[in-house]
Amino acid sequence: MKKRYVAGIIVILLTMTVYSQRGEIMLKILPGALDTMMSAQPLAALPDGLHISLCGAGGPMPSANRSGPCVAVIAGEQLFIVDAGTNGARNLGRMGINVGQAEALLLTHFHSDHIDGLGEMAMIRWVADNNSSPLPVYGPEGVADVVAGFNQAYTRDAKHRTDHHGVAVAPPSGAGMSIVSFALPDAGESLTVYANDNLKIEMISVDHFPITPAVAYKFTYKDRSLLISGDTVKSPAIEKHSAGIDLLVHEALSTKLVLLMAESAARSGNPLREKLFNDIHDYHTTPVEAAEIARDADVGHLLYYHVVPPLIAPGMETIWLEGVDKVFSDVTVGEDGTSISLPADSSEIIHRPSAL
Ligand SMILES: [Zn+2]
Ligand SMILES: [Zn+2]
Repeated sequence: MKKRYVAGIIVILLTMTVYSQRGEIMLKILPGALDTMMSAQPLAALPDGLHISLCGAGGPMPSANRSGPCVAVIAGEQLFIVDAGTNGARNLGRMGINVGQAEALLLTHFHSDHIDGLGEMAMIRWVADNNSSPLPVYGPEGVADVVAGFNQAYTRDAKHRTDHHGVAVAPPSGAGMSIVSFALPDAGESLTVYANDNLKIEMISVDHFPITPAVAYKFTYKDRSLLISGDTVKSPAIEKHSAGIDLLVHEALSTKLVLLMAESAARSGNPLREKLFNDIHDYHTTPVEAAEIARDADVGHLLYYHVVPPLIAPGMETIWLEGVDKVFSDVTVGEDGTSISLPADSSEIIHRPSAL
């Protein structure tokens, strides 16, 4: 008994000593840790194939583990980013994905939650890798207005960066974004917006009425494929273009939970907020509807993103997923950092550990 008492005292004293010297200890560890972080090449470590990481798994409402919509797609050695919700660029940084290497950013539509991180994405992509040409931003018609506005807003910041860091770090020619605009494909059809020997990216019109244009993007790399829905109601076009793909990344909104929020707004005497919540469920897809698409298109796996509303309390995810298990079982409710790999020349769907 006495021995255990003494051992306990020693452990407490040791803990107190380590705690009191935590700054000095960290100073010894930090240089090596920083070297590891600075030289890390997480993308190079991936096998050849198609990979995604969610840099934002939420919608417009604040959520601790689901930032504004943002999906990183790695095809072979190329990095593309679909949508730029709040915190997207910072989450990519935390995941060790170098935004500076982004080939292009693709916008699904121009709702604020999908574009509000654009300025930061372009700035980091420029300065992080000393890019000498602007970030190409792909989108349906209207993308020109959005990009021009952001470019104007960031003109002063761009000058500040070059003035301070010099032209080698921040070459003026690389500031901001360039516009790559496409006419909206006809309903049900796809339009190839990027192609090389191994990779094809297609734009598909979806139904987010009255928001138009709104599009999905399909990536096909070698023998693997995935589709990112953007915001839409249950869409026959998505089902058609998802036929047999490996991974469907689909938005979803629980009508049941959003209507509970509307009722709460009404009880608290806020009829305009009640109207807002009552409005939003008519231009999104429910989790069960997304599962029906996954089942009917025979996809390999369904990853939910743009998860609305925020699932902030235990049990809410169960309500959000109500009925899904009767329709389709291979589902993941995405969070920031959720990462899935589709290695080439294989049928594997690998869930990589989150780096967040
Ligand atoms: Zn949205
Ligand atoms: Zn939207």
